[in-house]
Amino acid sequence: MSRPKYIHLNGELVAWEDAKVHVSPGAFKFGAAVFEGIRGYWNPEHEQMYLFRLDDHMRRLTHSQVFMRFDSIVDTTEIAEQTLELIRANELRENIHILSTTFVDGIGGPSTSGPIGVSITSGPWAGAARIENGCSAQVSSWQRAADTALPMRVKCNANYQNGRLAAVQAEADGYDTAILLNSRGKVSEGPSMCFFMIRDGKAITPGTSNDILESITRQTMLDILPEMCGVEVIERDVDRSELLMAEEAFFCGTAWEVTPVTSIDRVPLGTGEVGPIVKKLQQSYFDLTNGRTNLHPDWLTKVY
Ligand code: PMP
Repeated sequence: MSRPKYIHLNGELVAWEDAKVHVSPGAFKFGAAVFEGIRGYWNPEHEQMYLFRLDDHMRRLTHSQVFMRFDSIVDTTEIAEQTLELIRANELRENIHILSTTFVDGIGGPSTSGPIGVSITSGPWAGAARIENGCSAQVSSWQRAADTALPMRVKCNANYQNGRLAAVQAEADGYDTAILLNSRGKVSEGPSMCFFMIRDGKAITPGTSNDILESITRQTMLDILPEMCGVEVIERDVDRSELLMAEEAFFCGTAWEVTPVTSIDRVPLGTGEVGPIVKKLQQSYFDLTNGRTNLHPDWLTKVY
């Protein structure tokens, strides 16, 4: 992993080597932290870096802090400003990934809720090969944690252990990743990405009451599938058996962008190749995130 010069820690730019926290606080012991992963796209023609939907990420970070009942809620307009300051200090001029975390820095038992620390990291992040070639998915025997247990709607670090169990098992079994079903046996999402499938030319995705994160990329898909690809989208429950009838499918998320799913449980979807709707959607998404269209200019924050 490359190491940019600076990290933002508790309101200050500090050298990578000096960005340290103690092992005792609740964040480390109990996973009492919430975060956002955000992407920046470098457009060489514009000589500009665009952060995709920064305001929406900051809004969700506020909700996560409130939901987790942190003693104090860090002002996310400050985090947004510090994010820009960090990228400029690191002189990043390529595609990047940013991680903004607010965490319980207090020492005590599991209910300790403050004081709250803040860290922001940023570094280069090239796209993955799976974006072009697609990926294979296993329907996991691990169940998505229920809203009444550990709500997936909240982007809390501890939630990621649920998806991690599914991802590690899928990889051990020779798949690229997993699809989790929820406690009702309906399709929820992947370990760190939402799921869509195409049937009869229409896009179908589980609704937000299926134990999924309220993903910003998913919302982007709901908007741009009709707008930019002429494809209708339906939000509804999806049964496991229906997965294998999909003509095409894809995962989406900040990190996964728009990644084709070409097989599920070793059954090829459609032709088993990346399909035309997913290809068109990828093109539209990257045009949008890289500032190559005039649609939704409010979704892009300029760094320079
Ligand atoms: N679901 C989960 C569980 C995730 O961790 C992520 C990544 N944040 C997503 C979906 C995609 O969310 P977003 O589009 O907001 O990155």
